[in-house]
Amino acid sequence: MDSNHILIFDETAGTFPKIISSLPGDVTAAYATTGSDLVTALDEQAVDAVVLVLSSKALDADLHALRSRLEHIPLILMVEDGGVSPATLNDLIGLPLQGVLPLPFSAEEFNALLEQSLTAREMLSQGKEISEALTETNRRLNARLQEINTVYTVGKSVASSLDIDEVLARVVMASVNITQAEDGVIILKEGDRLFVRVSKRMEHRFPQRLHDATTDSVAWQVIRSGRPAMLHRETKIATGLVVRSLLYVPLQTPGADTIGILGVVNRLKDARFTEHQLFTLSSIADFAAIALENARLFSAVEAERSRLGAILENAVEAIIVTDAADRLWLWSETAAEIFGLDSDARGQSVGACIDYSDVRELFDKTLQEEAMVHAEVELRDGRVYNAQLTTVPDVGRVAVMQEITHLKELDRLKSEFVSTVSHDLRTPLTTIQGYVELLDRVGPLNERQTDFVNRALSSLNHITDLISDLLDIGRIEAGYDLEMKALRMDELVRTTAEAAVVQAQSQGMGISVDLPDGPLWTWGNARRLRQVLDNLISNALKYNRPEGWVGVRAECDDEHIVVSVSDSGIGISAEDQAQIFERFYRVQSPETEDVQGTGLGLAIVKSVVEKHKGRVWVESTLGEGSTFAFLLPLTNPPA
Ligand code: ADP
Repeated sequence: MDSNHILIFDETAGTFPKIISSLPGDVTAAYATTGSDLVTALDEQAVDAVVLVLSSKALDADLHALRSRLEHIPLILMVEDGGVSPATLNDLIGLPLQGVLPLPFSAEEFNALLEQSLTAREMLSQGKEISEALTETNRRLNARLQEINTVYTVGKSVASSLDIDEVLARVVMASVNITQAEDGVIILKEGDRLFVRVSKRMEHRFPQRLHDATTDSVAWQVIRSGRPAMLHRETKIATGLVVRSLLYVPLQTPGADTIGILGVVNRLKDARFTEHQLFTLSSIADFAAIALENARLFSAVEAERSRLGAILENAVEAIIVTDAADRLWLWSETAAEIFGLDSDARGQSVGACIDYSDVRELFDKTLQEEAMVHAEVELRDGRVYNAQLTTVPDVGRVAVMQEITHLKELDRLKSEFVSTVSHDLRTPLTTIQGYVELLDRVGPLNERQTDFVNRALSSLNHITDLISDLLDIGRIEAGYDLEMKALRMDELVRTTAEAAVVQAQSQGMGISVDLPDGPLWTWGNARRLRQVLDNLISNALKYNRPEGWVGVRAECDDEHIVVSVSDSGIGISAEDQAQIFERFYRVQSPETEDVQGTGLGLAIVKSVVEKHKGRVWVESTLGEGSTFAFLLPLTNPPA
């Protein structure tokens, strides 16, 4: 244990030797005989206890000075015979008095009291230290809390605003307040130049928004290095002022690009910035950088949006964009006009807003099927649109509809023309055919004549086929001869395949038929569906290899019948597959060169199937064979 030191106040100095002689070895003592000596001694010495020898005379001392110094030091009073002056007693009230000894005293009594006083002293000083430490910790905690609160408030306000000027002003204001600096500034980099964007000067109440080009070498240094700068010497800064201390922190985007600096400076007062303030300012700078990045992204998105809006506004096509759940999101002016869409439609489902079943079915289809589908949409005023619907991953669906009314009209006129011409051609052709066939009956023909007649007949057959196909396609598309009724597709497939067996055998080929046990009912026109099957089977035979095979198959699920005709023939390349359903398209290849055909068979197949609300497709590998399949709705058996 350290040694203790006591101070004895004794105006007569008479008691002092006695006290000294009774002190334990580890205690030293000094004495004062006047009040002012006592105060000086208390100031100069580290005193652990004070002994006051008091008489009936009032204490001659500056009591205010004495009281404040005795507040934390234990007191022992020694009282002379005559007692203590009441004024003195009054002055001692509230001080840490340990005990009173009447004079003369015994050494044991004094030592017991002294020991008690020294223990009290130790406790008092510990208590004082703890309370001082607590006060200091509390003060620091409060300051930190206030900083965190400011950082949090800045963060919150920054995150909730996209007005960049306002955000920057708030950031500068908070930085100045938190660091108690005189001025604050934000400098941003634009290309290879720096601009002061916000400046808060001590002579102004509010920050000023600026766009002043600047050359601030410290700012450049912070931007280039990405590290803060804290200077405590005279420095010239962006605003042209000379400052005494400066703290610049970089504004870094989440991608770690430094886009500018946030700075605080002191021009007049000689105050140093602390590491602590550097951290706090860096946190605020992070918020500011995020806000700047958000604002940049927002304005980029806005620009993109308004560009998209302009495109949609000016597009002649009817364009509808939906989200993944088919809720309307964007549409063009044309779409708004034809489907009567107003701003209330946004967010509503296609089904609820668009009163055209063709469009609704189009959207239904994509949900189940491939990424892009087409449909024709006929408006009530007669206009016709060709709609193409695309699924855009992570966005939804986009329907683009082009008006094809005039094309439809042209198509109709062309079909009518072809129909009329074909019809008018058929009569004289039949006559020619009849006479050519009669030629050998009116007299014997020589070999060359017979050859010529056969060639003429073959060409006549081709023209007749062509004309009858043309007439067919015209009629099918116009919807003539398409009376529908319930029919059994399985039976139609069987009889058609059986009828083709003879032709197949003549080519050395077989036809296999695979049908389910139960009936397959559909709603359709038997003559036209038979024509579909005829065309597919005859193609499978025509474009086959010697001793090849043809397989005809029908199957169904809960809603559809699928009929397929497969062959082991020459196959079709992917490019040709895309075009073979077009009118007059024929594959040009050495294998098909000698095969007769009009190029209309598959166009007829497609027209008929589509008139039955079905679809047709092909799967084929060049050199291996093809499968043509079509799908029709399955219906209930008739009552
Ligand atoms: P065509 O009268 O020429 O047979 P289609 O419209 O029936 O006309 O067929 C168009 C073209 O498709 C044919 O010319 C042929 O090249 C090709 N094609 C059709 N069916 C098959 C098949 N089963 N195998 C290979 N190619 C075929």
